[in-house]
Amino acid sequence: MADEANSKTLESQALDSCPPETLVDGSALVARSLARAGVQHMFGVVGIPVTAVATRAVALGVRFLAFHNEQSAGYAASAYGYLTGRPGVFLTVSGPGCVHGLAGLSNGAANTWPVVMISGSCDQADFGKGDFQELDQMAAVMPFVKHAAKATHVSQIPRLVREVLGFAVAGRPGGCYLDLPADVLHQTIAESEAARVLSEAENPIFQEVEPVGALHIEKAVSLLRNAERPLIVFGKGAAFARAENSLKKLIETTGIPFLPTPMGKGLMPDTHELAATAARSLAIGRCDVVLVVGARLNWLLHFGEPPRWSKDVKFILVDISKEEIDLRKPYLGLVGDARRVLDLINEEIKDDPFCLGRSHPWVEAISKKAKENVTKMEAQLAKDVVPFNFLTPMRIIRDAILAQGSPAPILVSEGANTMDVGRAVLVQNEPRTRLDAGTWGTMGVGLGYCIAAAVASPGRLVVAVEGDSGFGFSAMEVETLVRYQLPVVVIVFNNGGVYGGDRRTPDEVTGPYKEDPAPTSFVPGAAYHTLMEAFGGKGYLVGSPQELKSALAESFSAWKPAVINVIIDPYAGAESGRLQHKN
Ligand code: ADP
Ligand code: MG
Repeated sequence: MADEANSKTLESQALDSCPPETLVDGSALVARSLARAGVQHMFGVVGIPVTAVATRAVALGVRFLAFHNEQSAGYAASAYGYLTGRPGVFLTVSGPGCVHGLAGLSNGAANTWPVVMISGSCDQADFGKGDFQELDQMAAVMPFVKHAAKATHVSQIPRLVREVLGFAVAGRPGGCYLDLPADVLHQTIAESEAARVLSEAENPIFQEVEPVGALHIEKAVSLLRNAERPLIVFGKGAAFARAENSLKKLIETTGIPFLPTPMGKGLMPDTHELAATAARSLAIGRCDVVLVVGARLNWLLHFGEPPRWSKDVKFILVDISKEEIDLRKPYLGLVGDARRVLDLINEEIKDDPFCLGRSHPWVEAISKKAKENVTKMEAQLAKDVVPFNFLTPMRIIRDAILAQGSPAPILVSEGANTMDVGRAVLVQNEPRTRLDAGTWGTMGVGLGYCIAAAVASPGRLVVAVEGDSGFGFSAMEVETLVRYQLPVVVIVFNNGGVYGGDRRTPDEVTGPYKEDPAPTSFVPGAAYHTLMEAFGGKGYLVGSPQELKSALAESFSAWKPAVINVIIDPYAGAESGRLQHKN
């Protein structure tokens, strides 16, 4: 009784003194806006003036993955956007932090992945006077974003956070930017005002894309139905749209052969009998009607032009972006979400189905060619070549990944020869399990992608197969793997440089610096595995099939950060991998 009376007196005393309403600062409001919008992870590098944004976000249940370099954090955020379908968010400091972050933002833009960069910037009042880390960040991000916003007052923060998150995924996904000057992060507003601006920001801003018209769907189906040599090509836009089930239905009801782009791999199993991957040149060179779903007719698809494609081929292009259709001028363009458009096509086919069947000459031609090529490749793969070429370790890695079954590991791949050989040899049977250098051929994405994949797909092991040069761009992030104890195994194909050994002819080795290592060379036999050990992770050095097999068995079952340093013959690869004509 006495206690109760006592506490009542305390309460009324507190009310009598009428404390001022709690104040909320800009950093807290950013954190609350992100949490309310459902952001679960944020990547970044903290420092002036954004450290409090990160700590407050963590306190609200947003996991912050702290990186060594904004570039890797940005790559991570872009891949996270692709893997989850929700914008990947990353945080940077002002000036140079923002500049490093441009790498991630531009990579998101090039791949059409939803990513949001949030950067602190210098005090508004001091801008133009040479302030600490001063930069016109709005101008700097402009080439790489769909939308950029700058908060000039704390109360704008919730609305702008919603806006950048919304724009990043609306229509064709891409990069967005939010600029937060230091003074705005430090500004305060009353709690009641904060609550008001937070709830006001929740009104939806975007509407669904208009569904594509019935006439277009009928025309697409009629083209496919009447084609002699139809083909279905799909890419990472179809993967982003989660179109795998619709795609499977279309392919299996019509019996049309298919070809995935590198990151489209896995939407349909690579091992499917209608896969034309191993008969790629034949498939694209001879098809007469091709349905392209969520893949641009850019360099990766030889621009859709002869001589790789036949000059009379009719493209039916499905893309969320009208701009893309306008640019490519296909025979028929269907603007819309890949899954929805495929569902409409399936619906249209349902009443009058058609199927090529295994004995259809086109299907037979592709399957015959694919089998021949697979047999040739398997004969090469079956050999145990030591010192390692690219094929032998790749086969061992392929088998170890396949032995993991389902859910399949997410594969991250970069490098020249390593990525090219990996694309041909490694098998993808589940959607969105391959992340590589992508549309931009970006090297240095590896570790950021690994970290994104590990947190975006907690049930999957992550396996990176990297060239030593690709790995080097972001190798310090192995510490990040250890710090968060992420289940990531990084396999480095160590051939001592970019493309491996010194390939210069004797007359190219001349001049005052001729004693220097070649521009393509690194320290031979670098002990990359010890970099991982330096932070307490597991390192392996392997040079033989048996050593590689046992390192893979151990690290794949441990689900702990590991680096496997695979020593490769420096002369096994080719300069520029398979892109020698671009040199
Ligand atoms: P890939 O590298 O696999 O060939 P690209 O990045 O070139 O793929 O092309 C992906 C395309 O997918 C882009 O043009 C993009 O506009 C489109 N896209 C993105 N999201 C969707 C979606 N939900 N539905 C259809 N197309 C999409
Ligand atoms: Mg190399």
